[in-house]
Amino acid sequence: MSAPRPALAVASEIAPLVKTGGLADVVGALPGALAPQGWALRTLVPGYRAVMAALKRPKPVADWPDLLGRPARLLAAEVAGLDLLVLDAPELYDREGSPYLDAAGNDWPDNDLRFAALCKAAALVAGGAVKGWRPELVHLHDWQAGLTPVYLAEAGLATPTLLTIHNIAFHGLTAANRLAALRLPEVGYSLDGFEYYGHISALKAGLTGARALTTVSPTYAQELMTEDFGMGLDGVLRHRRADLGGILNGIDTTVWNPATDPAIRPFSTPAGKAANARILRAEFGLAKGAGPLAVVVSRLSDQKGLDLLLAALPGFLAGGGQVALLGSGDRRLENAWLTAAAAHPGRVGVRIGYDEALSHRMYAGADAVLVPSRFEPCGLTQLYALRYGALPVVARTGGLADTVIHANAAALAAGCATGILHQPGSVGALDQALAQLCALWRQRDTFRQIQRNAMRHPVGWEASAPLYAALYARLTVDNRETA
Ligand code: ADP
Repeated sequence: MSAPRPALAVASEIAPLVKTGGLADVVGALPGALAPQGWALRTLVPGYRAVMAALKRPKPVADWPDLLGRPARLLAAEVAGLDLLVLDAPELYDREGSPYLDAAGNDWPDNDLRFAALCKAAALVAGGAVKGWRPELVHLHDWQAGLTPVYLAEAGLATPTLLTIHNIAFHGLTAANRLAALRLPEVGYSLDGFEYYGHISALKAGLTGARALTTVSPTYAQELMTEDFGMGLDGVLRHRRADLGGILNGIDTTVWNPATDPAIRPFSTPAGKAANARILRAEFGLAKGAGPLAVVVSRLSDQKGLDLLLAALPGFLAGGGQVALLGSGDRRLENAWLTAAAAHPGRVGVRIGYDEALSHRMYAGADAVLVPSRFEPCGLTQLYALRYGALPVVARTGGLADTVIHANAAALAAGCATGILHQPGSVGALDQALAQLCALWRQRDTFRQIQRNAMRHPVGWEASAPLYAALYARLTVDNRETA
């Protein structure tokens, strides 16, 4: 077999080291998924305090006394099987708080510089800063990596770039007068560069500058080119239609395996979920139910539609349903859900916070997982739901539409239904979906059959890894031809 081909991934999060959402899971999973495809991915990440603490015997591989005005070093390290390049720049990353927010929940005021430095480092690595290693391709993730093509072009490098859009809601905007501080070329501040309504947009820099673009589901790729979903960048994406594709995310099916998961009572058939359901009910103070036990594991943000679920709650509870929610984010939503729990003791349980192990126990014990998102680039929670035999009840949007097979009469007859889909953004539609869930739950055999279908549905990287590999190969062939 020929030697694996080197590629550099650039991201602001990577599981299991630092995670605020699905981006981290995907960035953490891609190296393992692409290795059998002949690609050796090294991932460049910021040296946040938590990342630095996790490094064992890091090896300094580059020293930059002036990386956009700050001293920085590049460290090579292996953590949890991941081949990392860590940008150690204490002035930028050594602080308490999340990757993006301070303890009070505000954006770090220097986020533009923090992630521009990451992009500048990526360009330096592509240019050969790490002795003996040079990537054939750079895979960028979201706005935090978006300025990389600009710095590559500035350095006269033709390394091909692929930008994956995990969520177009975040544009990485900063003031136009930051050009000099970020050492960006003035010529790039234009309509076909990174100018965005009088600001610099790091995401737009990536959308206009990367050789190819992907997003994390075929449906979201189409949606992104529409005004309703493009968040002001639909025109740019329509312009780049020929270079934009959708590749579904997978999940790590060894970590998320109900038969071996150490966080739960392992099971391999729907019947085996009962013990987990009892534990889950006890954990959330829920009574023995007369209907389905539905769970939500989510960031609490407008995107996720959990305000709609609050409005649909009375009908669902009247139908015998129960809800356990784990999430954090928007303070108003947190309070609204705590209020709902207080109003419906034994029927609604809420845990505000982030708890990975608890999330496993929730998928294991649940009859259903609710994802009423207004938009959802791919979504991972419905994939965990499928794997753990919990019916996903999801809005028909983005990756949710691509991964769940609606239990209509035809799909039920064909034995391929895996969940319930409803129109996004509508309380009425959600009401109906939850009513269908309650009705199906009462038809025990049918419900079990859907659970079995769900558990069999492929949710790993089998299908998507070859698509990424093919795209990498095409981009690097193009590069050889144009070099
Ligand atoms: P997004 O990236 O928009 O937040 P995804 O569904 O793609 O949504 O990914 C969310 C990931 O974060 C999943 O792995 C989910 O289980 C996890 N997650 C979200 N909120 C929590 C929480 N409060 N506790 C534990 N895990 C969470």
